[in-house]
Amino acid sequence: MNNTKYVFVTGGVTSSLGKGIIAASLAKLVQERGYSVTIQKLDPYINIDPGTLNPYEHGECYVTDDGAETDLDLGHYERFLNIPTSQANNVTTGRIYQSVINKERKGEFLGKTVQVIPHITDEIKNRIQILGNTGEYDIVITEIGGTIGDIESLPYVEAVRQLQWELGEENAIVIHLTLVPYLAAAGELKTKPTQHSVKMLMQSGVSPNILVCRSEHEINDTIKRKLALFCNVKQQDVIQSLDAETIYDVPNLMFQEGLDYVVLEKLRLSTRKQPKLKAWNKFIEKHKNPTSTIEVGLVGKYVELHDSYKSITEAFIHAGAANKTKVNVRWIHSEELTPENAAGMLEGLDGVLVAPGFGDRGIEGKIAAVQYVRENNIPFLGICLGMQMAVIEFARNVLNLEDANSIEMNDSTSNPVINLMEEQKDVTEKGGTMRLGAWNCQLTQDSKAYDIYKDELISERHRHRYEFNNVYKEQIEAAGMKATGTNPKTGLVEIVEIPTHPWFVGVQYHPEYKSTVLNPHPLFVDFIKAALKQSKK
Ligand code: GLN
Repeated sequence: MNNTKYVFVTGGVTSSLGKGIIAASLAKLVQERGYSVTIQKLDPYINIDPGTLNPYEHGECYVTDDGAETDLDLGHYERFLNIPTSQANNVTTGRIYQSVINKERKGEFLGKTVQVIPHITDEIKNRIQILGNTGEYDIVITEIGGTIGDIESLPYVEAVRQLQWELGEENAIVIHLTLVPYLAAAGELKTKPTQHSVKMLMQSGVSPNILVCRSEHEINDTIKRKLALFCNVKQQDVIQSLDAETIYDVPNLMFQEGLDYVVLEKLRLSTRKQPKLKAWNKFIEKHKNPTSTIEVGLVGKYVELHDSYKSITEAFIHAGAANKTKVNVRWIHSEELTPENAAGMLEGLDGVLVAPGFGDRGIEGKIAAVQYVRENNIPFLGICLGMQMAVIEFARNVLNLEDANSIEMNDSTSNPVINLMEEQKDVTEKGGTMRLGAWNCQLTQDSKAYDIYKDELISERHRHRYEFNNVYKEQIEAAGMKATGTNPKTGLVEIVEIPTHPWFVGVQYHPEYKSTVLNPHPLFVDFIKAALKQSKK
């Protein structure tokens, strides 16, 4: 028996209230008060994981060290807490059902009828407690995806009800995040949607212990009292969450409102130590007081939905603060970019990042972007597909291999400079079968990468099926593009650079996943530094 305490975060009234940010901010505050904490996201959809989801559906797919393809909220958890998450931190309904059904097929239910209650709810409870049972955490915060009232969240709410009953309210509490809308015509904040959503939660047997109310206007004591009265909580347990200038302000705002304090009180944990937010606030100070501004281009095919590139834009913010620079992003749709209009569309940019992606839509635009920045000495960072496009561009325009391509885009090209990885050749299933998670990369000492990482052996996260074709390595290197990072075991090329260019780096891995507030990613920091230099030209 260990003493892990559980905090559940549910959402009411509407989606997109920022449960992930509230959960991450609370976690940050208790972490900085000295508690060990982790955050978990339960997603009520039937996909086993978001790896098969189009980014337009659900934003970026975030990848952990252990190779889990997860919800983008896990990115926020890592960026706030500066500790890695894992597969156990993201569970979907698909995964829950899959394991229950697998157990049924093995005969593990001994002839019983398998039902939502107790079998699905037991599986949910197990998944919640897996993290607590490691003994590593004082507090586990579990965010329940979706909105109260959704049919698919019901088993999760029931699991929370049972766990609270089993563990006692001093060990498991529920925070309900709601919206208190302002009706301009009436000039009033309205509490009714919150009342209704709490009522719905109560119908499932769960009484929230704390309300966090998102609002565009100050929630005064009269309204707090009203919310408290109708939702059966104490007035001090009604926490207002006003719109913030940046998500990184939310921990401080929640501290001012006393969220961490009421949570710890309810869990009977000491509130004596105050959160140490010095390093965090130093970051905010730099982020909010930049001494320069630069503009970088982000070339991708999902740019209509900025969440598709969440970790990249957050990494820009971290790296910007490290350089005391405001990084403005120009979103560039790769499908609109051509060799003819590249100069116009990329004009004035201080750096260009060509984004990850899958499939052939927009790739010629990405190649056009690479050509422009390579020829015009503009700092370039290519990530995953972006790196592959850099290799193709180089092969086509420097080596004159006109039809150079990736097998992913054209499997009959006579110059497959990007090839399907050997281990992928027999893979037929799409879900969870890419080269995923953390792999080592050995850096060449005489390289930009080495200067940046200041280490010979690094570990970065991956999500790809295709790779640099080593058959072309000699030829490409001889022409001036160097492979400066490779997997020490397999020789897979992880990094390419053009040493004669001021800053041209393509990486097969995803550095953006590992950038956090307290540890901005060195590659992004250096890219922004190079862009800053470019801007001064
Ligand atoms: N589609 C490419 C591959 O699978 C790149 C993947 C990515 O950008 N994440 O190798």
